[in-house]
This record gives sequence, structure tokens and C-alpha cells, in this order.
Amino acid sequence: MRKRNIKILGVDPLIEPIFWNGIDNIKTIDLLAIFERGCPNCNWKIPSYRLDSYLACDECIPEDIAKKYYGKKPVNAQIRLGKILESNNELRGFRKAYFVEKELEEFSKFFEELVGAPPWSAQRVWARRVLSNQSFAIIAPTGVGKTVFGIIMALYLAKKKDYRTYIVLPTKTLLNQVLSKIKEWEEKLGTNYVIYYSSEMSIKERKQVKEKLQTGNFRILITTSQFLIRNLTNIIKAFEAAGRGKGHRRYVDFMFVDDVDSFLRNVKNLDRAITLLGYNRSKQMKSILEKIKRAGGGENQIYMLNEDDWAEIINTRLRAGILVVSSATGRVKGVLIRRLFRLIFGFTIGSSREGIRNVTDTYDDALIEVETNRDLLVNRAVEFVEKLGPGGLIFVARGSDSDEIITELSRKLSERGIRGLGVSAEEGSEVVQAVLKFINGEADILIGKASPYGLLVRGLDLPEKIRYAIFVKIPQFSIRLDAKPHPVYASFVLRKIANVFPDKMQLLDKIRELASHVIWLRPHEINGIEAEASSLISSLGIDKAIEVAKERASKNNDHRSITLLLTLELTKRLKEVLDDKDLIDKLRKAGVPFEVREDEVGRTINLLSADVKTYIQASGRTSRLYAGGITKGLSIILPDNKQLLQEIDRKLLWTVETSLAPLSDINLDEL
Ligand SMILES: [Zn+2]
Repeated sequence: MRKRNIKILGVDPLIEPIFWNGIDNIKTIDLLAIFERGCPNCNWKIPSYRLDSYLACDECIPEDIAKKYYGKKPVNAQIRLGKILESNNELRGFRKAYFVEKELEEFSKFFEELVGAPPWSAQRVWARRVLSNQSFAIIAPTGVGKTVFGIIMALYLAKKKDYRTYIVLPTKTLLNQVLSKIKEWEEKLGTNYVIYYSSEMSIKERKQVKEKLQTGNFRILITTSQFLIRNLTNIIKAFEAAGRGKGHRRYVDFMFVDDVDSFLRNVKNLDRAITLLGYNRSKQMKSILEKIKRAGGGENQIYMLNEDDWAEIINTRLRAGILVVSSATGRVKGVLIRRLFRLIFGFTIGSSREGIRNVTDTYDDALIEVETNRDLLVNRAVEFVEKLGPGGLIFVARGSDSDEIITELSRKLSERGIRGLGVSAEEGSEVVQAVLKFINGEADILIGKASPYGLLVRGLDLPEKIRYAIFVKIPQFSIRLDAKPHPVYASFVLRKIANVFPDKMQLLDKIRELASHVIWLRPHEINGIEAEASSLISSLGIDKAIEVAKERASKNNDHRSITLLLTLELTKRLKEVLDDKDLIDKLRKAGVPFEVREDEVGRTINLLSADVKTYIQASGRTSRLYAGGITKGLSIILPDNKQLLQEIDRKLLWTVETSLAPLSDINLDEL
């Protein structure tokens, strides 16, 4: 199979098989790239010619099948890929995208049958988002088919999923306009889903509507926003009746607000939507909403959401109904309202600094070729503050010595007559006090931790005060190196330190094999495996445990038993590594970012990853909004680890499409 005129000069052994596999095809192309983690189905390496032909990697689709599709442009790339994977029984990470796409096709047909023409491209984009359970805002001028989209989607969801929809229209006129269309569509469908309420109805019609509302004998309710203002309790009761026995945590599954600008003329309407969609059912969500509202609507107001709050919000979004709002202008007034949309429903609407990023991202290249230590980093930070003046934030990466760095920084700054205020806490009243002092001009510089949910990182809206941010070490999260027999943990950690193993390739194969089984398990089963593996290890010891698991796996031959076996085998590798006296040396040589911590328990090794989200949030505090637009903020990273610096640079490119510039290329006086 190997053709003569191709020669490989040094290649990663993981890439070599990909290369030889596709050699026939490679000879016909001009340029070959292999993308790390590029496979849309399994995240594995994928050669460019497969991506060009909308295919998955060699592991997901064997070459003899893939080659039939090279160079052929599919009518619908997602559906074709999903079908190929499905027929090979390899549908994994791509499953959701494929199912959404299939539903979209179904919706398009449904739409065309009723309207007489298929949805146009924007309507398909909106449909895709509803079908993937996302709330969002449609910002488009009138006349592009927003209302039609909302109504047809409601009919579709009622028919296919028995969903309950509430459509809110801005005016009686619009309501009357769409009614005849709705009647026509319902006749075609042979259904009786829609009820509406209009003040122009006769007494008899009103009585009928009232009856249907009480019995819940409807799927779609259409009213004006005026009606919602006066009848929230009745509407809730009606939707409760319509969903009786289904155990939903929400009253309304899909809410479509046509013309959100007029909907929000009554601010309480947002609360009404939150209630109907089930966003305030849990006690914790109630207190989160309280917190956000208490902060009020001023640009400088601060609010605090901690990690638990975010987890609850994200969880609630999965269970609550979908909200789609449309707006012709995209200008929603009020910081608080925009904030509620962003935090609770997860989308932005209207003009806001939030979400716009305009930052010069740099790193101090003077630190690259030298051995860094705490003093050096602190001194560099102080030098930059002296150069740049007041109005800066200093973020210290979370780690074993972050508290000491914070103390040290405030001490050294005050020695130079700069009022630097350090806070070790990540949230709570101590931080609030510090921020207030900063606002009142009692402090020039705020120093805190680069923590993902910290107040300084997330809650600070002081566009006119903050000009720059300095990061002492790269924002990071750490994971403790341990022989924990959890399939996901063991895979993650071993992959990170794979370079220290002489048999790296076999190890990665094993991790991959494990992943192909874990993917079929439910979350509670995965955790169950950790419990079972732990008890096997503690009663039998690791070697005997592996024997037992091996017997069971060959007998049952199911995903669960095989996962248990592979997890134990990987745990054994972890144990070996942890027992290795030269481990620290080896990690260093292998270029793995890590940190050694000493505490009461003894010495632990923590593997580090660059936390790009926290970096983006924190550095984003520096771009400022003025009447004329936004001006550029400056961010300087003081790196203490080359690998982490490269990692964050790479992640920045993926997420916000920017790269770090060496500070020596930048003229600080010009900024
Ligand atoms: Zn793949």
C-alpha cells in the first residue's frame, strides 16, 4: 500500500496511521493538515481532507466508507454525516447536532405544508435554536416573518411534543391580523390547539374562552401584553390545567414574545415571564433573582453570584421553558433588564458593554527566558502599576501562595505611595467593601484572585475607573494528582501527563477505548463505577481487583463491566506514577504544568490548566464604554510557566480569536 514517492520524516506515532490510512487521497491533494481535537463526533485528530468533505475522523468512519464521499458536497452536511455515523453505530458527540438537524428538516416540511413555502434561512436559524432548547432574541425589522415563525413553531411543538405555548403580541391589530391565518392552518392540521383572548370578542365567545382556559383544553394561548398584565393568575391556572399530570416544573414550555420593546414597557412583565417559564420555582433561584434585583439598575452596581448560583441557573435553564423575544430595534432600556436576560435566560439583547470585548492582550516577555519566583513577579507588577498609574486591577492566579502574593503586593505598593487594596476573599462583604473604596476613590488599585466566579472577575462594572489589568501568573485551575478510580478523572489526568510514560501510545489507546465505553453510561452509573472500584481496591488490592473485573468483563461484555476494568487498569498506572520518586523531575522534563503543595496532609502534586474563561471575564473589565463607543483596555500577563502561557494563547485564539502580544512590541505610552 505504501507508495514510493512519499516519505515521512519524523512523525508523531499517533498521526502516522492517519497518514497511511488516507495515503491514496493524500497523493491527490496539495496541502494536508491534521487538526488536533477536530473530529465533530469524538474530538480526535482529523485530517483536513475529511473536514473538507464534511466527514468525521478515521476512528469514527473507516477509510473505505469515507472515500466514497471525498469531494462530494452534500445537500445537508449534518444529516449526511449523522446518517453515516448512525449506520456504523458510531454516533457519539455528534448525536445532538444530528438529532436537532433531523428535527429541523421535519419542522421545515411542517412549515412548508402550512405556509406553502419553506422557511427562509433566518427562520431556519431561529428554529434550530428553539429545537436545541435555547432561549434567545430575534433582532430583525418587521416583515421578515418573526410572528409567522413563532406561531408555526408553537403549532409544531404542540403536535410533536404536546408543548404548551404562550404567544404575546403587542397589539390587538396584530392579533386580529394573524387570527384568520391561524384558523386556516388549524383547519389544515385538523387540530384545535389555539385559543386567544381579545377585548373585541362577543360575550358568547368570551364565555367559550373562559371555559377552555379553566379546563386546560388548549395548547396555545395568544393574547396581547395588556391581557397578561391583568390576568397572570388566570393564565397560570389555565396552563396548569393544560399540563395537568405531566409533572412539569414550568407552566409554559415555549413563550414567544413578539415585540419585546412594547412588552417591557411594563417592567413587571419580565417577572411574569420568569414565573410562567418556571425560572423561579426553586428556593435558590428565588434568592438569586433577589440578589440581582437588589443590586438595582445602575451601571456601577455590583452583584454577586457564586459557583452554586451559577450551577443552579444552568440547571434551571435545562428544566425551564424556552423564551424567544423579538425586537425590531434591539434597544432594550435598563441595565437590570438586560442583566436579567443575560444571567437568567443566557442571551444578550440591547446595547450593553457586557459582551463586547476590546482589550489589548499582552504578556511580559521579559519573564519568559528567566527563572521566575514570587519576588520577581511582585516587583514586575509594581513596576507596571507605577508606569500605568491608578485605575488598575491586579488578578493573582489561585494557588498555594496567592494570599501571600496579595499581601506582598499591597505592602510594596504602599511603600511607593500607591494605595493598593488587597482582598483574599473571592466574594462576600470584604470584597464589596473593597470595591466601594475603589469606587469612592479611596484606593488606586484593587488586588484580588482570578477566581472564575469571584466578584472582581464577574461583578465589577466600573467602565470609567478601570484602565488596565495585570495578571500575576496565568489564571488557572488545578486538579490534584491522585489515584482516584473514577473513569473520567483518570482519563483526564493520565492524558495530561501522558508524556511521562514510555508507553504513551498504548496508554492513550487505552484512554480512548475507555472513552468509547463511558460515553454510553449515564452520570450516576459513572459515579457508581468509582464507588465499586474503590471498594474492590480496598478489599482486594489493585491487582486482584483487576483480575476480578477482567473475569466479569469477559462474562458480561457490556459497557459497564468493561469501563470498570479499564478504570482499574488506568488507576494502577496512576498509582505507579504516584509512587515514582522521580515523578517531579519527569513532569518537568515532559513539560507538564504543575504545582507542588505542602500542607498538613503532606505533599500533593496539582496539575494546572489555563483558565481562559476567567481571563476573558477579568480582562474584559478594562474595556470602557463611552458615548462614542468603546475604548481599548490593556491586559498584561506576568507568566510563570511557558506551557500555560502557550495554552492560554491557544485557547484565546479559539474562543475570542485574539492572540497575546509580547509587551516589548507595545508602546505603553501610546495606549
Ligand atoms: Zn472521530
